Amino acid sequence: MTIFDKSVEGKIAFSLPEEKSYGFDPESTLSEKYIKKSSTDLPECSELDIVRHYSNLAKINYSVDHGFYPLGSCTMKYNPKINENVASLSGFANLHPLMEEDDIQGALELMFDLQNYLSKITGMDEITLQPAAGAHGELTGMLIVKKYFQSKNEKRKKVLIPDSAHGTNPASAIMAGFDVVELKSDENGILPFETVKNALDKDVAAIMMTNPNTLGLFEKDIVKIARIAHENGTLLYYDGANLNAIMGKIRPGDMGFDIIHLNLHKTFSTPHGMGGPGSGPVGVKKELREFLPVPIVNRNDEKFYFDYDLKNSIGKMRSYYGNFGVLIRAYAYILSMGNDGLKKASELAVLNANYIKCNLREIIPPAFEGVCKHEYVGYPGNLPKEYNVKTLNIAKRMLDYGIHPPTIYFPLIVHEALMIEPTETESKETLDNFIEITKKIVQEAKTDPQIVIDSPHNTYVRKLDEAKASRKPKVRWNKSS
Ligand SMILES: *Cc1c(COP(=O)(O)O)cnc(C)c1O
Repeated sequence: MTIFDKSVEGKIAFSLPEEKSYGFDPESTLSEKYIKKSSTDLPECSELDIVRHYSNLAKINYSVDHGFYPLGSCTMKYNPKINENVASLSGFANLHPLMEEDDIQGALELMFDLQNYLSKITGMDEITLQPAAGAHGELTGMLIVKKYFQSKNEKRKKVLIPDSAHGTNPASAIMAGFDVVELKSDENGILPFETVKNALDKDVAAIMMTNPNTLGLFEKDIVKIARIAHENGTLLYYDGANLNAIMGKIRPGDMGFDIIHLNLHKTFSTPHGMGGPGSGPVGVKKELREFLPVPIVNRNDEKFYFDYDLKNSIGKMRSYYGNFGVLIRAYAYILSMGNDGLKKASELAVLNANYIKCNLREIIPPAFEGVCKHEYVGYPGNLPKEYNVKTLNIAKRMLDYGIHPPTIYFPLIVHEALMIEPTETESKETLDNFIEITKKIVQEAKTDPQIVIDSPHNTYVRKLDEAKASRKPKVRWNKSS
């Protein structure tokens, strides 16, 4: 039931005095054209109706704080509550972006330090905190690539992207005006040096890569690829969504990447999903510093300040200075974890993924052999075809057992893919429970396939007609329906 369904004409949720009683009469104060004559058609509810409505909605929501959430590629790790507390300190939360530099030195220091921490973690020389998410960072990076070649008076049109890439990679390259050339991963799930070599020519502006890639595999040819790219004058872009697998172990800057983005909301512990605020800082090597969006935070002998002095800046990517609340959480997280803590987080993320992989390999064989990084992609391959049970059904059945299903049907190159990313914050008991439930569901798929096919059964919303939802989406509420 929506809040509109609960509307009863005449109900109100506040008890302020009539405007007229404190000497304000809209009809005589405002000019005719500002007075609305027709109804706004907003729901009319009491305060208690509204409180109950939203509390009940919150109750049926699922989140990392409710249970296991192994959504591959999204790094749904637990977000320590201390980071929330720090971000809500009034000295941070009540800042206004138009305040004078002298009055926000603490906030600027935090941003300056965060830029430096992220530079150290990634091996880059300078960071902008401005982009609002990973995809926005990609666009920022691609605009930097474009401006870089413009500044050299070179026209390069192509960006090479492996077929395992996240869909935002080609989208960002195309938005920045490039043509995308898709490169094929090999039978081991990685991008071979030879493939890159054969695709390179003087028209290639950049190669976008994710490492470990979206199959959870390390691109082992990366150093050779970086060398040949640079010999060709091509820039190497790093999609850092999978940084959670390698923190403190290896750095994209050392692998040879020129531009990177990070997803602070994934790796650095900000609650995300359902469109919450994110942050996609972009890092560059020093030759590309002058192209970054303005301002970055800098310091001189006296104070911290917004530095607009970047002579080839691509301009602004976002209003003001980025999603500051997310930056605070990332800063608190990095400080509380420390060098060793971040490294350990990545080690445990990789261990947990391999633990699940080894325990499920009989029923969900990995799409590629070998040790995986922070996530494992498999497919429920052993299910006899005649049962007609698909990955989608297995994922939906998991909802009945109270866990959030892994990512499915991504990456696109794996048939019926199931992509499991447990993250480092889950205990062995939780992983064992997930393994047991998955085994049970695969067993059900053989003995009682219809139960699995018709699932979910225990959720507020039952099996959806996905074809209808995409062909005839109902995106507007109206009274008559
Ligand atoms: C999540 C993700 C992105 C996009 O990041 P957003 O922050 O959601 O915009 C890009 N690439 C990969 C591999 C991802 O997992």
